[in-house]
Amino acid sequence: MTMVGGLDERGLLEHWEAVERVAESVEGIHVLKGVEVDILKDGSLDIAGDVLARADVVVASVHYDTDMPRPRMTRRIIRALENPFVDILGHPTGRKLNERPPYNVNMDDVITAAARTGTALELNSNPKRLDLDDANCRSAREHGVKVVVATDAHSARELGFMRYGINQARRGWLEKGDVLNTATYRGLAKALRKKVRAA
Ligand SMILES: [Zn+2]
Repeated sequence: MTMVGGLDERGLLEHWEAVERVAESVEGIHVLKGVEVDILKDGSLDIAGDVLARADVVVASVHYDTDMPRPRMTRRIIRALENPFVDILGHPTGRKLNERPPYNVNMDDVITAAARTGTALELNSNPKRLDLDDANCRSAREHGVKVVVATDAHSARELGFMRYGINQARRGWLEKGDVLNTATYRGLAKALRKKVRAA
C-alpha cells in the first residue's frame, strides 16, 4: 500500500511496475498494488480514474479541509464512495484520540452509502485512531457493509497495532465474515473486483 505523499501519477505507475516484478518473483504470496488517495473538497480524488483502474486496491481518505460543515462533509465522502475505483474508505471519521474530534459527518448516511455502493470501511487500528469506533462497526455490520481491519503501519513495528483493531472489531460485535481481510485471496480478489464490474 502506498500513501500518496508527493507521489505523482507517473511515480505511482513506476512503483506499481516494481510491485509487479516482485509479485512475479515471489512464489506462494500474492502481492497487491494499492494506493491511498486523497478525497478532495468536492469529493473527487487526487489520482485520475485511468490510473486507479490499474490498482488492485484503492483506499480513499480525507486528509485536508477537515473543518467543513456536516452536510458538505457528508456529501464529499459519499461522492468518493460512489467512485467505482474506491474499494475502501480510510479512517472514516478522522478522529485522533486526545488530539482532534471526528469530522463533522453523518455516519448513518455514510454507512448507508457504503452499503449501496459496495464500498468497505476501514477500521484503522492505530491506537490514536481506532476509527471506525465500536458503535459504527456494529452499524456497518447491520447494514451488510464489510470492514477492513488495517494497521496504517508506517514501520514494521506498527504492524503490531493489529491487535487493537481486532479488539475494537470485537467491541463492535464484528465476526470473521464481516471483515474483508480475513477472506481467502480468491474471496478478497472477487470482492475487490465487484464494484468496478457493477459500474
Ligand atoms: Zn490516511
